Parts: sequence; C-alpha cells; structure tokens
Amino acid sequence: MRGLLVGRMQPVHKGHIEVIKRILHEVDEVVIGVGSAQTSHTLRDPFTAGERVMMLTKALSENGISPSSYYIIPIQDVECNSVWIAHVKMLTPPFTHVYSGNPLVQRLFLEGGYEVTVPPLFNREFFSGTEVRRRMLTGEDWRSLVPESVVEVVKEIDGVNRLKHLSQKEIVKKDCE
Ligand code: NAD
Repeated sequence: MRGLLVGRMQPVHKGHIEVIKRILHEVDEVVIGVGSAQTSHTLRDPFTAGERVMMLTKALSENGISPSSYYIIPIQDVECNSVWIAHVKMLTPPFTHVYSGNPLVQRLFLEGGYEVTVPPLFNREFFSGTEVRRRMLTGEDWRSLVPESVVEVVKEIDGVNRLKHLSQKEIVKKDCE
C-alpha cells in the first residue's frame, strides 16, 4: 500500500518527519510531494525545490528511514485547483491513501475519490514553517524546531541570510510604493 503526503516544506521541520514516520506505520511506501516546486526566494517560500529535496533526504536518513520506503517528487502548482489531482497523479507513483492537514488538499482528493486521513499535528505552535521562518528572521532559536541535517543544509545554502536579505528588499520595495 502506498500513501501520499504533499507539503511546501518551507523548510522541512520536525512535524513533517513525525507525520512521515506515522504514515509509514500505516502504509508500505510514502510518496512525498514537495509542493509549490516552482517557488523560491520569497519570504513565504525561501527555499528551492532542490534544497527542500536535500533537506528531506538528509532528515529522513538522520531518522533512520530507509530510502526504499519513500519517493520524493517535486510538484509545481497549477492555476486550476480542479485539475491539480490529475497533475499530481501524472507526476507520482500510484497511491491509494492521502494524508494531509490542509483543508484544500483534503477537499480536492476527497472529490477525486481518494481515502483521505487527517494526521494529528505535533506541537503545531512550534513545528510550523511559518514559525521557523519567523525565528530565522528575528534571531530566535529555530534550530531546535528542525532536524539537525536541516540546520546543516540551511548553513550550506546560507539560508538565514537569504531570508534576511529578502526581508530587507521587501521593506525597500514598500518604501518605494
Ligand atoms: P505544509 O508543509 O505546511 O504541510 C504539509 C503537511 O505536513 C500538512 O498537511 C500536515 O499533514 C503535515 N504537518 C505540518 N506541520 C505538522 C506538524 N506540526 N505536525 C504534524 N504534521 C504536520 O504544506 P501545505 O501548505 O499543506 O502544502 C500543500 C501544497 O499543495 C502546497 O505547495 C500547495 O501549493 C499545493 N497545492 C496546490 C494546488 C494547485 O496547484 N492548484 C492545489 C492544492 C494544493
């Protein structure tokens, strides 16, 4: 049995890894879709699809999850929600179960005839991409919210400085408006 989890993973955090572990208790393999693959270098989506694939691969390895139990597939957004399921299906190995905490994702897959499970959220107040990015900008502790290997990837790509630089640009842009 194969399940699907789609997420922007901006960046990968401990909540993502916990939910993937949980899904792997229920299915043999999990297809992990890296959503909004076309977006990067914005405050909401600072990391490229390739960087997010690297974060996931290393974080899953750090957590002892075998590469034979998952597929990581970048998935670009499409303008029409009504054709998104067909687009996801075209890009991914076949799956029967969908796991998502996102109401739009749940709705679209339910209407597509899939079995949809809403997995429990782990410490959502802290384990969320929004909170990790906020802390990166303010200089608060974000490292404890992500796996150690994600800290290393962010260091390698100078991710915190990218985010800080982007936030300056947006202030300049606003000043010019
Ligand atoms: P996300 O990274 O915020 O979350 C992904 C999943 O991880 C969640 O559904 C949830 O199940 C799990 N998760 C997150 N935090 C957790 C925590 N603390 N504990 C346990 N589990 C946790 O990503 P998202 O915003 O849900 O991603 C959906 C993607 O699908 C986006 O890229 C979106 O653009 C894409 N999408 C595209 C279209 C389209 O192109 N028309 C339509 C629908 C969705």
